[in-house]
Amino acid sequence: MAQAKTQQLTRSTQPHPEFLWHSGKLVPWEQATVHVTSVVWTAVSAVFEGIRAYWNASQQELSVFQLDAHMKRLAQSMKLMRMADNITTAHVRQAVLDLLRANAFREDVYVQPLVYFAEGIPGYIGVLDRPVDVLITARPSPSTLEDEGGVTAGISSWARIADNVMPPRAKALANYQNSRLVPTDARVNGYDQGIMLNQAGKVTEAASSCVVLIRDGAAITPPWSAGILESITREALFTLLRNELRMPVQERDVDRTELYIADEVLLCGTLMEVKPVVFVDKYTVGDGQPGPVTRKLQSLLLRAARGEMPAYAPWLTAVYGARRPAVNGARRAAVNGTRKLATVRARA
Ligand SMILES: *Cc1c(COP(=O)(O)O)cnc(C)c1O
Repeated sequence: MAQAKTQQLTRSTQPHPEFLWHSGKLVPWEQATVHVTSVVWTAVSAVFEGIRAYWNASQQELSVFQLDAHMKRLAQSMKLMRMADNITTAHVRQAVLDLLRANAFREDVYVQPLVYFAEGIPGYIGVLDRPVDVLITARPSPSTLEDEGGVTAGISSWARIADNVMPPRAKALANYQNSRLVPTDARVNGYDQGIMLNQAGKVTEAASSCVVLIRDGAAITPPWSAGILESITREALFTLLRNELRMPVQERDVDRTELYIADEVLLCGTLMEVKPVVFVDKYTVGDGQPGPVTRKLQSLLLRAARGEMPAYAPWLTAVYGARRPAVNGARRAAVNGTRKLATVRARA
């Protein structure tokens, strides 16, 4: 019985994409194996990115959202880990596009490039400027921006890691020990999400998304120095708030009680996109329904990401463009078109 349960948990029955990217080339999913000794400890120093690509059915185009901003942040995370730049983010950028084309996705996708020390260097050893390797996976992930509902949140009893402990601005796998305790704790206490305070008792972020409040016609959010990840979605929302809703944005310290009295609270991040928070610590936020500003932001973000707002075209990178695949044989055409690039491994 127990054994059957374990097998159910460990053996994924999910269909997987045809290709992933590893060590400079496209690899068929089943063939992407490494030696057992190179797993686990290598992950301690690994850094990653989470990126979305949105499918526009009428344009028959898949667009990566904020690809350059994600590459810039990946470079920052690699620098903080003192990784060598034997693989450049220009290489990773191209690889992301090649991988999406190879899988010929015609739906919303989540892409995750992961950079780790090559040669199986375990993460507990201090190393300087050692070469890195890249693994990139992509999977279908439908946008939830049109979902109606909101989520409940509780202030977590776990505090956010501090910059003199494990830098929160690095998008590092190890930071996710902090991040995973929070939703677990939230679930135990009957909430959907947990929001963390920092060591000074101020609001930081949720486990993998940032917090924005709407109060008296202004958007308010904790600053980078509160110990948040430098969220790209948060920056995009600032732009939409200022340009489209003419609403001022204030980055400043936020107390937990300010969440209780806010007109609206939302969580934002690439995977979560924009989620209204309707209860915090069982205080009703606003009237307990997703608020009008949050709703507008969801709709604006979706339109911008799907390429329906020309002013935000610079946020998007077209995956197919002139190489748009036919519906039939799409996969083969895409792979043939990118194989050559795929085998070029950038070494400094
Ligand atoms: C990725 C991430 C976020 C959200 O950042 P985006 O760039 O908006 O996706 C927030 N917090 C943590 C800890 C994260 O890892």
